[in-house]
Amino acid sequence: MASEHSHWPLLADAPADEDLSRCVHCGLCLTACPTYLVTGKEMDSPRGRIYLARSVAEGTLLTTPTVERHWDLCLQCRACETACPSGVPYGRIMEHVRAQVAEAPQSDPVVRRVRRLVLRHIVARPRVLAAAALLPRKLAGLLTRERVAKLKPKPLRRLAGQIPRGQGAPVRPGFELRPAGQERARVALLTGCIMGEVFGEVHRATARVLARRSIAVEAVEGQGCCGALHAHDGDLAYARKLAKKNIAAMESDRFAAVVVNSAGCGAAMKEYDDLLAADPKWAARAAAFSAKVRDFSEYVAELGGEVPSQLETRVTYQDACHLAHAQRITTQPRALLDAITGCQRIETAGADRCCGAAGLYSVNQPAMSGELRQRKAVEIAASGAQIVTTANPGCHMQYLAADAESHLDVEVLHLAELIDRAEAAAETSR
Ligand code: SF4
Ligand code: SF4
Repeated sequence: MASEHSHWPLLADAPADEDLSRCVHCGLCLTACPTYLVTGKEMDSPRGRIYLARSVAEGTLLTTPTVERHWDLCLQCRACETACPSGVPYGRIMEHVRAQVAEAPQSDPVVRRVRRLVLRHIVARPRVLAAAALLPRKLAGLLTRERVAKLKPKPLRRLAGQIPRGQGAPVRPGFELRPAGQERARVALLTGCIMGEVFGEVHRATARVLARRSIAVEAVEGQGCCGALHAHDGDLAYARKLAKKNIAAMESDRFAAVVVNSAGCGAAMKEYDDLLAADPKWAARAAAFSAKVRDFSEYVAELGGEVPSQLETRVTYQDACHLAHAQRITTQPRALLDAITGCQRIETAGADRCCGAAGLYSVNQPAMSGELRQRKAVEIAASGAQIVTTANPGCHMQYLAADAESHLDVEVLHLAELIDRAEAAAETSR
């Protein structure tokens, strides 16, 4: 609950005082925070941002444009949650802070309204999004790696380079893949918004990997965007609407799990219980649904069993923040890579630090996003990896951008694509 003295404009969705008061100002989160590491400013750290929120909650500070900018610079990567010994639910706090800023923005009100329109009326509307994705898909067919490498100036090369190539046709609700033999279980697959339209091959690879383990994959009709981008932008009302739609579409008992191969979407869906906790009609359904959500790597690890795989390559796995910090999944993807015969996995020091993609962050905060991307590029170049693998569409595109911008000469693959490739190679060599 928020106090009655607070300056929050939307009391119903204000950050809870109980959440804010868990911060004991120890500062252990500071060096985990990518924005603090770049600017060195206390107010660009988790502790500083919580202090600002607490001051507004106590009625001693107004949400001025300066205050909003410190909050806006937050990537919502949640590395601070992993580092925090007091269990401060920073992700939840920041979503509620953003809901306040969205209600009465002091800075960039027009930009914020446009962003909300785009999220509600393009990203969350499958037909509109499909039309919008036509151009990037066409461009992806024309832009070979060699053509991208020759583009000038650098920003154009980066923009063109980040369009996912080789992803084929979209995968939308209605898609299904059954295993060749007996069906061990059936799972629902979230096709998502951007993921389904421009990462079709990731979905097909996901389904093939699961089919080799006798799992049938079904992308049911009625599902849609998970609402993560809306929640991060503070549009909690719309995020709740999308959450209900997905629960109704995929909660059926015929599914052993709801498999998600986008870390941001998976984290949001695992937190539908939190998002809908105050809704008496939906709270129990949301809790049951969230308990069934599994990240791709988490589910494959749970299934166990050995499927032969081989690939002679050097690969670096870069954690997606919403897998490592929101879902706390770090070992399963690495173990899956380590099981591939011939695959040398190279660990980089900053693997679990945010790449700067962070949903719409690269559009909203291009300078900080670019700085974080370049830091990753340096680390990847030093690793000598041939393949960069990750588990989130935004990160995937950020690494493609880094490759094009810094001439890294690496291939960027989703973890599912890499495992599928290695398993297919083992099949053909038998
Ligand atoms: S979410 Fe990430 S960027 Fe934001 S305060 Fe926490 S560590 Fe820093
Ligand atoms: S680590 Fe946790 S308790 Fe300590 S300053 Fe950061 S958010 Fe607050």
